[in-house]
Amino acid sequence: MNSHQEESHLSQLPSTVCPVGEIDCPLVAEVAELRDNLVELSNLVRTDTLTGIANYRYFVHALEQEIERTQRSMQPTSLIMLDIDFFKKVNDQWGHEVGNQALIHLSQLLQQAVRKLDIPCRYGGEEFAIILPDTNLSAGVQVAERIRQEIAATPFGVAGKPLQMTVSMGITTYAEADAIAVEELVKQADQYLYKAKKSGRNQVCHAELPSIDSVTTEEKQALSAIFGSGGASKD
Ligand code: GH3
Ligand code: MG
Ligand code: MG
Repeated sequence: MNSHQEESHLSQLPSTVCPVGEIDCPLVAEVAELRDNLVELSNLVRTDTLTGIANYRYFVHALEQEIERTQRSMQPTSLIMLDIDFFKKVNDQWGHEVGNQALIHLSQLLQQAVRKLDIPCRYGGEEFAIILPDTNLSAGVQVAERIRQEIAATPFGVAGKPLQMTVSMGITTYAEADAIAVEELVKQADQYLYKAKKSGRNQVCHAELPSIDSVTTEEKQALSAIFGSGGASKD
C-alpha cells in the first residue's frame, strides 16, 4: 500500500478520550480498537488480495480525485495502462500458481519503480494501471520507458531458472482543459496499449510528443527575450 492510501482520514483522527473525563473509562479502549479495525478494513477494501497493491475500486476513486486535482491545480495527470506480454504462456507452461507469483513479482517492481505519490494499481487479471500525478506526457513516457526496461531486465526465478517477462504500455495525459471522464481517459490509454501490442509488444505507445516546432510565436518571443535571439530556435 503506498503513501497515498495511508493518507486515509481515518488514520488521522485524534486519539480517543472519554467525553466525560473518566480516567478508567472502559469504552475508550473499545472505541480505539473499533477505530483500528476500521482503518484495517478500509485498507483491505482498497487493496488487491493477491499483489497487495491498490485494486480496481481504489484505482477509479484515485483517478477521479487526480482529475479533480488537475482541474484545480492545472497540473496534468498521466495514466499508464500496462499488460503483460504472452502471460497465458506462463500459466500454460508453469501453472497458475507460478503465474500468481509472477504477478506479485511484477507488482513489487512497479512499486519500486515509481515515486511515492504515484499510484500503481492492479486493474484486473494481468493488467495494471499507474496514475502519475503532476506529470505531463513527456515525463510520463520517460517513467513508462524506465518501467518497461526494469521489468525486462529483472527476470522472475522459477525452479532456479530466470523467467523473463515483458510488458506493453499505453500512456495518455489529462490536462485541465480536457472535459473527459475517467472511462474516456482509460479508453485512450487502452487504445495506445492496443497499439503497443499490435506493433510487436515490449514497448510504450502514446500520442505524438510536443515538438519544439509547436512552441507558439509568443513563447518564442518570450524565450528570445530571456536568452537573446541567438538562443531562440529558428522559424
Ligand atoms: P498478450 O501479449 O496479447 O497480452 O497475450 P496474453 O497471453 O498475456 O493475453 P491473454 O489475454 O490471452 O491472456 C491473459 C492471461 O492472463 C489469461 C489468464 O489466464 C491470465 N490471468 C489473468 N488473471 C490471472 C491471475 O490472477 N493469475 C494467473 N496466474 N493468471 C491470470
Ligand atoms: Mg490482458
Ligand atoms: Mg497480456
